[in-house]
Amino acid sequence: MNLTDMIEYENLGKLNKPFFKELEQTFKETLEGGWYILGNKVQEFEIQFADYCGTKYSLGLANGLDALIIALRAFNFEKGSEVIVPSNTYIATILSILHNGLVPVLVEPDIATYNIDVKKIEEKITKKTKAIIPVHLYGKVCEMDTINAIAKKNNLKVIEDCAQAHGATYKSVNAGNWGDLNAFSFYPTKNLGAIGDAGAITTNDEDLAGKVKSLRNYGSKVKYYNELVGYNSRLDEMQAAFLSIKLKYLDKINEHKRLLAALYLKHLKSDFIKPVVHSDYVDVYHIFCVRHPKRNELKEYLLKNNTKTDIHYPVAPNKQTAMRGILDNQPTPLAEEIHQTTLSLPISYYHTEQDILKVIEVMNKF
Ligand SMILES: *Cc1c(COP(=O)(O)O)cnc(C)c1O
Repeated sequence: MNLTDMIEYENLGKLNKPFFKELEQTFKETLEGGWYILGNKVQEFEIQFADYCGTKYSLGLANGLDALIIALRAFNFEKGSEVIVPSNTYIATILSILHNGLVPVLVEPDIATYNIDVKKIEEKITKKTKAIIPVHLYGKVCEMDTINAIAKKNNLKVIEDCAQAHGATYKSVNAGNWGDLNAFSFYPTKNLGAIGDAGAITTNDEDLAGKVKSLRNYGSKVKYYNELVGYNSRLDEMQAAFLSIKLKYLDKINEHKRLLAALYLKHLKSDFIKPVVHSDYVDVYHIFCVRHPKRNELKEYLLKNNTKTDIHYPVAPNKQTAMRGILDNQPTPLAEEIHQTTLSLPISYYHTEQDILKVIEVMNKF
């Protein structure tokens, strides 16, 4: 087998290649500038990213998990309060609830969108419920108008997990501009990816923005004066500088992924269950997955035919060893069904239309 014929699932070096010159330039500038933590580059990126999301504020943080933890922390919910969260999410969303001493209450997904089933939220609300964390999985925004209406009616806070949805919209409003505090990850593989770890919170609430700003930096606004029990979760200048460059290309990256997704959607045979398309949604396809009852065979078949794939995710959160005695009393058959049948196909910014047509040709012979 000729390895050069292999279509990889992702390759970060290739993904970032078009930006190398600009990244190197800003690396040099930032290095020579001599200011590495919470400076002009972070401030610039925060203004640009808030502007991109259409929010009043954005605060740079160390990573996406911290963004979720700090968003919850800012509300200071009583320990043992309940937080509603989809059953098929990445473990980070659940961990942020646990690390705040709160109780995750799982709600099953809509099998068509893979996002939280809004019809199943209200039956899980109790006197202890304080917040909902909708997750815009794979780059499709949740039904946020309905979720916000439920939240308002029941006096709950909304924290969007936007880690997979930079630039995605629902009814023309951006991910990160629906909830009270909204968490982003800029992990290198995300649609807006740093050259290392990074994250952010967006909000339209001045008071909450101030709290996040303090919490990320030891609970301090004035150096050496601590008003909150804070964290060290600062975005560093180098990553902020890299992100400002990548942000300029985010729409182009999303557009390219949509173009590749359109090929899959049009040409893949109907044996594969494909993501739903609807005029309310502009998806950014952080992940493009299909479902098939013989998922494992399909994955192996594709590998034999020079195509690498991935699974998001192989194990549902409540089936993880770490969640024994914590979540395993909440059965989630729909999430498990998705986890057992889903396969993520190559859809990187560096993949060409020819790459994708090759994958499709092979898949249609399965
Ligand atoms: C990536 C991701 C996170 C966590 O982000 P990190 O930057 O890796 O901490 C949280 N939630 C979801 C849905 C993610 O995909």
